[in-house]
Amino acid sequence: MEASNQKKKLQGYVGFANLPNQVHRKSIKRGFTFTLMVVGEAGIGKSTLINTLFETKIFPIKEETVVDAQTGVEITSMGAEIQEGGVKLRLTVVDTPGFGNSINNEENWKPILENIESRFDAFLGQENRVIKNKITDNRIDALIYFIKPTGHSLRAIDIEFMKRLHTKVNLIPVIPKSDTLTQDELTGFKSRVMADINYHQIQIFKPNWDPLDDAETVADCKDMLAKIPFAVIGSDKSYENDSGKTVRGRKYPWGLIEVDNESHNDFVKLRRMLICTHMNELKDATDTVLYENHRSQKLFTMGHVQDNTVFREYNPAAYLEEERRLHDLKMQKMEAEMNAVFQQKVQEKETKLKQSEEELYARHKEMKVNLEKQRIELEEKKKKLMSTNRPVTPIDKKQKRGLFSL
Ligand code: GDP
Repeated sequence: MEASNQKKKLQGYVGFANLPNQVHRKSIKRGFTFTLMVVGEAGIGKSTLINTLFETKIFPIKEETVVDAQTGVEITSMGAEIQEGGVKLRLTVVDTPGFGNSINNEENWKPILENIESRFDAFLGQENRVIKNKITDNRIDALIYFIKPTGHSLRAIDIEFMKRLHTKVNLIPVIPKSDTLTQDELTGFKSRVMADINYHQIQIFKPNWDPLDDAETVADCKDMLAKIPFAVIGSDKSYENDSGKTVRGRKYPWGLIEVDNESHNDFVKLRRMLICTHMNELKDATDTVLYENHRSQKLFTMGHVQDNTVFREYNPAAYLEEERRLHDLKMQKMEAEMNAVFQQKVQEKETKLKQSEEELYARHKEMKVNLEKQRIELEEKKKKLMSTNRPVTPIDKKQKRGLFSL
């Protein structure tokens, strides 16, 4: 499910020109790829936010659409090749229209989970190929989950979705259209959302830092972390602000809300984390943790055994059960081998005994034949002597004795 790429020109600063600092120089030539999934009900602001994030009209160009017959959820892929400061980024956005739009949304997470897993499977299939000339990576690197800005707390559909997906994808929860809530409402809403996330032990992507990182990087990460879930606004329109600068924003009779103003919303923090500082980390986490877990589970169900620490940590009970099963199998195999060796030894002995018996019998037969031959010879000699009809001499007596001693 690879979206073809459309060349786009940026109108402003996006931030991925910073990517070379995150990964090796060689990648600059090849360009970077990033696959982003967006989930939230229709009209919640997904396309506006993505277009705002990447400063380009990625929506509404749809390239591939799959509709799940049961839930009505569509999976649509869009691709764009964007360039900034000589750095190429091949971006694929996967939209999920129809999510949360039915009367019964209970199983809306299912086609999305299946889509994410089928991308892992496609990658695994390529990895297992003998000739791995070109591997296409369509795995989802991050999923922006749009929480309806109700001002209350998470809804059942949000909790269910995140619980089902958090071990398969890097979840980034956002509150869109944050301009529809007051600052106080937003503060309360954010803390209730985080309390729900913690209560349900939902793992969301959190920017982390290394103890060796400089103070500025650590402070930057901490700032981002404090803003989660990011409360953002999106807009494709620009207006002149009070300082006479043309800025992107949403205009109301009471004033202008600026997209790129950190005191108005968390858009800058979200963009910074997603594109400037943590894009590579998101890809890394997808590859080394989420995909690895999926791969281990898959191979496990296929009967292969992995000495895989990630899997052991992920499902210790299943790991122990598998270890016990393998131990039993090993013992059974050893017992069968020992039985086979024993049987072989017994057979060898039996064959040897039979051989000696046959040899003895043959020798006995040979001796019998020889004796019979000798007896017949002597008998003939005796007859000859008798037929000469001469008196019996002492020598004849001797010969007779010798005949009977045989
Ligand atoms: P999608 O169906 O989730 O992709 O939603 P859209 O991005 O198409 O947005 C639906 C409507 O919400 C449009 O009329 C947008 O102008 C509006 N909208 C998008 N972002 C915002 C925002 O941040 N604040 C407000 N107030 N409206 C927004």
